[in-house]
Amino acid sequence: MISSVRHLMEAGFLCKFYIDGEWRKPIGSATAAAVNPATEQPIAEVALGNDEDVERAVAAARRAFAGWSRKPAAERAALLDRVHDLILDRLELFAQALTSEMGAAITYARRAQVPLAAEHIRVARDNLATYSFINPRGNTAIMREAIGVCGLITPWNWPLYQITAKVGPALAAGCTVVLKPSELSPLSALLFAEVMDDAGCPPGVFNLVNGIGPIVGAALASHPHVDMISITGSTRAGILVAQAAAPTVKRVAQELGGKSPNIILPDADLSRAVPLGVGAAFRNLGQSCSAPTRMLVSRSQMADVEVLAAAAASEMVVGDPRAESTTHGPIANRPQFERIQAMIGVGLEEGAKLVIGGPGRPDNLQVGLYARPTIFSNVRRDMRIAHEEIFGPVLSIIPYDTIDEAVEIANDTVYGLGAHVQGTDIEMVRAVAGRIQSGQVHLNHPDWDPNAPFGGYKRSGNGREYGLEGMEEYLETKAVLGFYR
Ligand code: NAD
Repeated sequence: MISSVRHLMEAGFLCKFYIDGEWRKPIGSATAAAVNPATEQPIAEVALGNDEDVERAVAAARRAFAGWSRKPAAERAALLDRVHDLILDRLELFAQALTSEMGAAITYARRAQVPLAAEHIRVARDNLATYSFINPRGNTAIMREAIGVCGLITPWNWPLYQITAKVGPALAAGCTVVLKPSELSPLSALLFAEVMDDAGCPPGVFNLVNGIGPIVGAALASHPHVDMISITGSTRAGILVAQAAAPTVKRVAQELGGKSPNIILPDADLSRAVPLGVGAAFRNLGQSCSAPTRMLVSRSQMADVEVLAAAAASEMVVGDPRAESTTHGPIANRPQFERIQAMIGVGLEEGAKLVIGGPGRPDNLQVGLYARPTIFSNVRRDMRIAHEEIFGPVLSIIPYDTIDEAVEIANDTVYGLGAHVQGTDIEMVRAVAGRIQSGQVHLNHPDWDPNAPFGGYKRSGNGREYGLEGMEEYLETKAVLGFYR
């Protein structure tokens, strides 16, 4: 099978943007290399856009809005159906692109990154098929209408998944979009634009401009003809986008950082809860905004948990992401690798107990951005590794003495994105979940649910993605009084 980079190169897409239903040359000449984190070698040169490219894309989205937003729901749903099927048809091409651009183990890309991305499109299609856009309230009609042109800004950690989590519901709602994917993971985004084209997306409904945040992202955020921005990224970028968007009073949906707790109640089955907790924290190498990287453990159980956690971490196979036996590849990019190394150093300096892992690469991997899965124990609440997002395979085990204290520690963060609770007494587990300030709480490691809304309390963001709430984010409310007699 042809590689994803060769496919994009032969199609001529690497140095083009998808605007108004066509692959267009950028206005400027800036490019940046996409780098494979397993080799640290450049694999493709990709065009970077500027204000004028954004101008063209927004104008195209604006022109397309009236037609798309008025299309019957069934026509919009039919497009989403085709997009869903094409993503799955091209699963291998997408998986390879993700492995090359951000180091996802190929097995994980095939099993999770790509199929879960397709799920967001399916869920958007299903919600659209049953959604009631007009509802009576007395004599008044409550109408839900597409908000307009949306700028969608996405990160590199789950590149395709974050794109479909925005494009699917935005298009279902009747909006037209300009996507700016992360400059660090442009390949899967270009393949996605090709899918949109092949699915027969009408010109201007979906547009893609690659580029860096402070130029393309900022131009979208401040643009007077963009009605809404949805950004997934760091809290830092989310704040900058909100500031840039403020003068034009556009809606800003933010899916930002996290430092999610995992409370292991004293009656939990440790032999299940601890390995699953380590697995969840290190899924995608901890490069997940809702990764439960603070494991809260009853003080008397700390020694048992450390043994179980170390055993679980030692089963991870870190290595060449293309190998079938690899469970975890390299860290996605150099800045992230450096940050993880720095924070492991901080943990050691702060006096946390190193259970497994530590600084540097695993012994057998001297080339590539490979990190050691690292677990610290006896972590105190005032340590930086207890409250700063690391976004890597670093787990902090924090002791608690009472359940009240566990809840207090869980909420002792500026974030509020995800949380987990483990225990046998389900009434107690539910009661603890009710006291945690976060957008999602997972009880005893349930399956992933694409219909469950996802988003943050506090500085983890505003608004919700996924499921019905994810589509409603892209709708305005219009009350038409006197509509009914
Ligand atoms: P990032 O903030 O560096 O970049 C995210 C996106 O924002 C990129 O497309 C980037 O180009 C853009 N951007 C950066 N500065 C901008 C600016 N001034 N104006 C407009 N756009 C700008 O984040 P990242 O390193 O790509 O991703 C990691 C972060 O994303 C972590 O903090 C993680 O927690 C968060 N994240 C959150 C969720 C969620 O759903 N809550 C999901 C995934 C990642």
